[in-house]
Amino acid sequence: MLGRAGRLKKHDLGRVYLLIEPGKNYSSRNKTTEENIAISLLNGKIKDFELHPDEDRSLTELLAFISMFNEGVEKAVIYKFNDDVINANYEIEGFLNKLINSRLIRLSNGALYKSTFLGQSVAKSFLTVETSLSIIEELKKKEKKISEIVLDLKSLRNVYLTKKVVADLSKHRPAKYSSNNFFSSSNLSLMDANYVKKRKSFSDDFIKYVVKWTNEIFNCDCKDNPYCECGRLNLEKLILNLRVEDNFSIKEITEYLEDELEIMIYMGDITDYLENLIYSFESISNICKGVSNLDPIYNEELSDIPNIIERIRK
Ligand SMILES: [Zn+2]
Repeated sequence: MLGRAGRLKKHDLGRVYLLIEPGKNYSSRNKTTEENIAISLLNGKIKDFELHPDEDRSLTELLAFISMFNEGVEKAVIYKFNDDVINANYEIEGFLNKLINSRLIRLSNGALYKSTFLGQSVAKSFLTVETSLSIIEELKKKEKKISEIVLDLKSLRNVYLTKKVVADLSKHRPAKYSSNNFFSSSNLSLMDANYVKKRKSFSDDFIKYVVKWTNEIFNCDCKDNPYCECGRLNLEKLILNLRVEDNFSIKEITEYLEDELEIMIYMGDITDYLENLIYSFESISNICKGVSNLDPIYNEELSDIPNIIERIRK
């Protein structure tokens, strides 16, 4: 196990222990024994640490730097900051213009760069400039509710079929064709009630689940249903509603999903997911406050956000 132990300039030495079982292979795909892999790791060449340039992240970093100065910052100070940044191979004038054109910063008195309220909101959030600008675009289009934009931001991962369904399925299909991941393509390929009914190989129970999943989760009219994002979004909406509308505890949410939908999500993953939703609601709410001429159709939802956050939290 190798973690990020030690702090730069505080510790000069770290120890890594390699635990091996002689003669064993840790994966069926890798025929080399564990001890031979350990030896080749110890004798191998250590790769240089390398960070790949990322324009969006660098731009976000620059915005965060400018946002630190309440009274604005001179260009010379920005250039000096940029000299110390790793991967600062971008053209700083272009970056400044981009931030000005997106109304995230402005130039005051022709000398000081200062972040706008919107720029401050973006800098305070965990979102990058690019994601924030695409959220602003979405808000202007007025096609989605704020809660839908929030749910789009970070998708729920680690959604599984319950053990009961996996056991049932394994009787009819070789294990190599199935995955216990609910949104895996092998599972999605079965989300057609008529198809599974016609095939004799599926149990009545499984057919019942597929009918339920297609009615409650994969129920959109998209051409690529169930491979579109609607299924995941519906499940996310359901979890949010169980928490906010029905006041379910995390444990009650996992039990509900398991009993009603034969879906298994670990409690820790649901907690993480809900915590992320709080950050997303807060960030988008701040961004909304910074967008000039935001359509009043959002007012009601915006004023309800503190209440939603409170209900997720408690
Ligand atoms: Zn869809």
